[in-house]
Amino acid sequence: MPNELASLQKIPVTPRERKFSRLMLFFESLFKVPVFGCQHCGECLLSSTAFVCCQGCPKRLRNGPCGGTGEDGSCEVYHERKCVWYKIYYRSKLLKRMSLLYKLNKIHNWNLENTSAWLNVFRKRIDGPIWFVHHDKQKVKDILADDAQAKN
Ligand code: SF4
Ligand code: SF4
Repeated sequence: MPNELASLQKIPVTPRERKFSRLMLFFESLFKVPVFGCQHCGECLLSSTAFVCCQGCPKRLRNGPCGGTGEDGSCEVYHERKCVWYKIYYRSKLLKRMSLLYKLNKIHNWNLENTSAWLNVFRKRIDGPIWFVHHDKQKVKDILADDAQAKN
């Protein structure tokens, strides 16, 4: 499997660090749980998903919807809820961060569950957040043109 697809744990979380990570997670959660509904995945994707936590999806999908999203945007598991990826799409449009939806997010490393994402960024286990997206429309056009070219 190519490295860029797998969330390889470059620096293992030692039992000692895990304890510190739990403490950091406590402080991280004070903000991220009430504001984003953080599920403590330890590999934060918020900046790639227009600041909607994709881990609110019952299937915990990290690269787009499952295919069962209703025509009205409802979730196929909990019909009364909107699909998380439906929300991500519209929020990305609103915030002009659509080009980030074409980025392939790494396969989740379940060993990082319930660890502090902030600490994992600091320890270079995961990529840092992408704060600014410039020329979003042009980037989307370029991605689609590259894609079309690759198909021909
Ligand atoms: S750390 Fe994971 S679960 Fe928490 S907000 Fe970020 S993406 Fe969502
Ligand atoms: S419809 Fe959306 S939120 Fe529901 S399980 Fe599928 S991807 Fe997840």
